[in-house]
Amino acid sequence: MLSSRAINITPSATHAMNARLMKRRAAGADIIAFNVGEPDFATPQPVIDACIRALQEGRTKYTPVNGIAPLREAICEKLLYDNGLSYSPDQICISTGAKQALSNAVFALCNEGDEVLIPIPCYVSYVEIVKLAGGIPVLVPTNEDFSLNADSFRHALTAKTRLILLNSPNNPTGAVYSVEELEEIARLAEENDLYIISDEVYEKLIYGNAKHISPAAVSSEAYERTVLVNGFSKTFAMTGWRLGYTASNSEISRACNAFQGHMTSCSTSFVQYAAVNAFRDCTDEVEAMRRAFQERRDYMYSRLTAMPGIRCRLPDGAFYLMPDVSAWFGKSHEDRLIRNAEDLCNYLLDEAGIAAVFGEAFCMPGTIRFAYANSLENIRIGMDRMESALQKLK
Ligand code: PMP
Repeated sequence: MLSSRAINITPSATHAMNARLMKRRAAGADIIAFNVGEPDFATPQPVIDACIRALQEGRTKYTPVNGIAPLREAICEKLLYDNGLSYSPDQICISTGAKQALSNAVFALCNEGDEVLIPIPCYVSYVEIVKLAGGIPVLVPTNEDFSLNADSFRHALTAKTRLILLNSPNNPTGAVYSVEELEEIARLAEENDLYIISDEVYEKLIYGNAKHISPAAVSSEAYERTVLVNGFSKTFAMTGWRLGYTASNSEISRACNAFQGHMTSCSTSFVQYAAVNAFRDCTDEVEAMRRAFQERRDYMYSRLTAMPGIRCRLPDGAFYLMPDVSAWFGKSHEDRLIRNAEDLCNYLLDEAGIAAVFGEAFCMPGTIRFAYANSLENIRIGMDRMESALQKLK
């Protein structure tokens, strides 16, 4: 009955873990969520006020496919101010979340059978979006510290390689790529006539001395070859509003526009109006959230690294920690044997009442991804419970 495209989609393991969590909660269990990639903060008030105003002003009709001009202009200002990148509004395509922006870009650039290089661990949807577009995902290992390994990229190149999919700050590792790493990948793209899709949705969640750099900013050649993807979900705690965008050369932008025009038309009209002044009006809120995330990162890191058999590095960005937990494999509690990270996640859900996602979901067996998008108090309770549950494993 179903198409081969539908049959070949692997259901999202992060959604599956969430479904398990909901089921346990519905049955009365007290579960602390470290599995969801979503800020726990409220959307800043200026955005909500602007949305209400837009509704009252009747901004409820279709907009142009690529979005309203004032928002595309505001995005151009942001890209110039934050990223040193000069785009004109016709190079911006506003979409229903960064996820649709990513899909537009992949469909605009990927032919049937084209190979797409994806450094791993990686965001769950990349592999599936590439498959849906008829491309072939090629998983490229990163270094021990999750930095990019140019040799692995070179090794993976074939005559069919077309695209590189980068994500910094990274989900699930939190790694932030340096200018040197990006320059090397940009050079590789140039030498081999490849395009880069750069997912920058965690751009504002950067800690310590790390700096976010877009690959589009490393050279004029890289600018031409890069589709920059960003959105409002993580920066402005707007996951449910569904707003993202691409910035690219005009030809790719027109293709994203054409693709989106037949898939969803424009993103929601009043959501676009609500976002126009977000970059200007919400800087304090964005900084307050970043500081809170940094405090949580430091606390969760100190707790995880104090537990036996947990090896974790302190990442510079996003809101995830991804420790290696393989030292626990082969241990058991009562009749429950831990064979892999999925078993350990299920054990922690049942025994400790905490939800996290096993690394296999991100092409990184042996690890677990913990999102620290939860209150310090919940992180403290969750880590206490995890410590006790691990102590039972012999
Ligand atoms: N890219 C990455 C790396 C993400 O983690 C997410 C959200 N989890 C997205 C894209 C999708 O963001 P949006 O809500 O804007 O579609």
